[in-house]
Amino acid sequence: MLKGTLAYIGIGANLDDPPAQCRQAVERLSGVSGITLERVSSFYRTEPVIPESAGRKQRGELEKQNWFVNAAAEIRTVLSPRDLLKELQHIENSMGRIRTIAGGPRIIDLDLLLYGQEIYEEEGLTVPHPEMHRRLFVLEPLCEIASYLIHPVFGVSMRGLKDRLDDNKTVERI
Ligand code: AMP
Repeated sequence: MLKGTLAYIGIGANLDDPPAQCRQAVERLSGVSGITLERVSSFYRTEPVIPESAGRKQRGELEKQNWFVNAAAEIRTVLSPRDLLKELQHIENSMGRIRTIAGGPRIIDLDLLLYGQEIYEEEGLTVPHPEMHRRLFVLEPLCEIASYLIHPVFGVSMRGLKDRLDDNKTVERI
């Protein structure tokens, strides 16, 4: 029996050679003690999604930013969700992530999408990731590596969530 929990990480970047940043993030992820990298999706070129909370001026700026590169990774880990999130944030910081406005440009973004079938709702940690089911740029790469996976809150597969999605943003495999 393999030790650890299967977890899924969303990867995104839109600054300074985004495919190279995503590759670097995968490399660093696989080097973390307590994490085994199982699978990585293809990379996708995706249109930026503007958060509904953005004001008019911010919206204008966000619409001008570069398209993103997104991917999803399947890992096996013995780390707790909290420790896993800390490792993801450590990788983001070590790669030079600077936090600006929500939905703004970023050198790297790592999200904990799913951690087994577990559900967490804590300060600074929500699993499954609260936006994952609304975003084609998350579900498209995730479906490539785990379309059968069930979302523990909705009881629907990743494929089912993607098919129901009303997201007309462009997501194209590179
Ligand atoms: P972001 O701008 O996407 O990097 O969001 C980071 C913030 O979301 C941090 O304050 C995290 O504590 C919080 N957060 C809550 N749940 C998650 C999750 N499942 N994955 C990543 N960040 C999360």
